[in-house]
Amino acid sequence: MPREKEVKTILNKSKRRDPWFLDDYTVNLYSGCSFNCLFCYIRGSKYGQHMERSLSVKSNALELLERQLSNRAKKGQYGIIALSSATDPYLHAERDFRFTRQALEIILKYRFPVHILTRSDLVLRDLDLIQAIDEAAILPEEIRKPLSRGAIVTFSFSTVDDAVARIFEPGATPPSQRLQAMSQTKDSGLLTGVSMMPMLPWISDTTQSLNEMLSAFQSCKVDYVLPATLTLFGSGPSDSRTLVMRAIGKHYPDLVSRYEQYFAEAGCVPDFYQKAFDLKMKELLAAYGLRSSILNFSEK
Ligand code: SF4
Repeated sequence: MPREKEVKTILNKSKRRDPWFLDDYTVNLYSGCSFNCLFCYIRGSKYGQHMERSLSVKSNALELLERQLSNRAKKGQYGIIALSSATDPYLHAERDFRFTRQALEIILKYRFPVHILTRSDLVLRDLDLIQAIDEAAILPEEIRKPLSRGAIVTFSFSTVDDAVARIFEPGATPPSQRLQAMSQTKDSGLLTGVSMMPMLPWISDTTQSLNEMLSAFQSCKVDYVLPATLTLFGSGPSDSRTLVMRAIGKHYPDLVSRYEQYFAEAGCVPDFYQKAFDLKMKELLAAYGLRSSILNFSEK
């Protein structure tokens, strides 16, 4: 069971709208994340090696959200709320706590737009509420034309191979099930897309794997795909670089020297890789007829 803790604030205003995910605000109802992805950027000594053990629920979150959104709405400070930026809104604990569902009810009441980011199929439980937000939300004026929707649902994938996901995203819904959830979400009429993050060099970034992924996303008729490369942090026992390197040593021993070359010092892929990746993704997305932005600039 997650611990409970009180926080001082729950609605965090970003300095500027995120150019990819479009959020003006972030809300994280849980602290830590039981999906325990090895590459997760929130890893580190704060949460330890097994993040599910340090998971806590912010017990006063809903009360704070009600107050903070009411104040922002009175001032007309509408903006897109990302749920969530530093945890998943649909953790296993959410089945019992229902904090995300209650937060969505408050978001609907104050008519804020929302962007759900998840690696779980539990989002299906709340499609009714997300659809209601989609219709009722008040969008910031400057984004109304290219967005014109009050709710966005993004599913994150580092792979569509269930066996690979068991290694790198052990607690998340298996990709095969996540794809079905994504398809249902899209069929429900919501603006639905993919955060293809992070692509694992020589594992999920191969031409074969990218084609499998994009073909699966195309079959779900997603509205957009946001691809990104892998970045690793830290060298402590619970840091993402340590855990990913250990997994590579165990499951992909042939890749150890290549991963060391890329990530031992810099933590991110070299420039030439990034450029080649960007070009490859641009070509592949065009070939599959998929857009690389949530915003649709062709909307009149
Ligand atoms: S689902 Fe997201 S927040 Fe949770 S462990 Fe994975 S990458 Fe981190």
